[in-house]
Amino acid sequence: PMQSKHILITGGAGFIGSHVVRLFVNKYPDYQIVNLDKLTYAGNLENLKDIEDFPNYIFEKGDIVDADFIKALFTKYNFDGVIHLAAESHVDRSITDPMAFVMTNVIGTVNLLNAAREAWKESNYEGKRFYHVSTDEVYGELHDPKEFFLETTSYDPRSPYSASKASSDHFVRAYHNTYKLPVVVSNCSNNYGPNHFPEKLIPLMINNIIHNYPLPVYGKGENVRDWLYVKDHARAIDVIYHNGVNGETYNIGGFNEWKNIDLVHLLCKIMDEKLERPEGTSVKLITYVQDRAGHDLRYAIDATKLMNELGWEPSLQFEEGLTNTVEWYLANTTWLQNVTSGDYLKYYDGMYTNR
Ligand code: NAD
Repeated sequence: PMQSKHILITGGAGFIGSHVVRLFVNKYPDYQIVNLDKLTYAGNLENLKDIEDFPNYIFEKGDIVDADFIKALFTKYNFDGVIHLAAESHVDRSITDPMAFVMTNVIGTVNLLNAAREAWKESNYEGKRFYHVSTDEVYGELHDPKEFFLETTSYDPRSPYSASKASSDHFVRAYHNTYKLPVVVSNCSNNYGPNHFPEKLIPLMINNIIHNYPLPVYGKGENVRDWLYVKDHARAIDVIYHNGVNGETYNIGGFNEWKNIDLVHLLCKIMDEKLERPEGTSVKLITYVQDRAGHDLRYAIDATKLMNELGWEPSLQFEEGLTNTVEWYLANTTWLQNVTSGDYLKYYDGMYTNR
């Protein structure tokens, strides 16, 4: 029989984390999945309503910045593996409050590394794995349209967010080199899909179109991002967690580059259809706003290594994924209303008024 595995997933109440928790809890009934989350503005247990009563799922509320708490959690559960997603994740927030990003993304990650090292030392790390989920933003920005980020691309983080993630990636690799901690790292491009907090581009636009609010597009909308459906990222994390090689890095991406303005146009078209409004209605809401400070021009991931070595590939075409996403938001207006009340409104008004 398969060895029962105890896995800590951090940040499991967030956007990507909730899809990873759902996949693991459903796919591996013999595993015990512990979801540790602080439930910041970005964490929402409603994201996991469908699996909260599963016998192989446990939720723990807590802060990865609290080293004693993390240590005690490792003693309590005897984890075999960690899939670390908890983070402050929004670039705009990192520009107004960089220290929150240092605390959670850097200190929090090192706390987890220390706890894993301490707990696993005696077993000589046999059967253990520490997986750090990271971003392609650590590589900086691209200008040459023929260039892609590879696993060997030098780090060049340019926002407080990407600097904090780059720092945490370095610590994870340093623990592998120095203490032989069994680690894997993946760097993924922009995700989209259900449960995405509406401060990020796609759900922000969907929410604003529903309410006939202006659609704020940074600068001239020329920035290019590579978009991946969140469930394809979760599938990649499953594959890398189980089959990745210790010490290796895997880039994850959709080979799906879009200029922001073209993406917003496509979304407007899909929304007009779904809301049965005359074509061209939503496009009129587009409003150009002052560009984000230090806004990286283009990110593009080359995911060939992951595809060739571990056999993963994206499952969805973009238009299909985007249509699924729009349908999810239209079917889950209560979720959207709950997360866009209170603090969100204060944050949103601060961001986009007077511009
Ligand atoms: P998210 O902001 O939706 O979720 C983050 C989760 O972490 C939330 O549930 C939050 O409550 C929790 N959290 C924050 N601080 C915490 C703390 N101190 N202790 C415990 N929990 C805490 O983020 P996301 O978009 O789901 O991203 C998850 C991970 O994937 C992050 O590490 C991010 O850097 C990475 N990533 C995201 C993308 C993307 O497009 N969203 C792309 C590549 C990589």
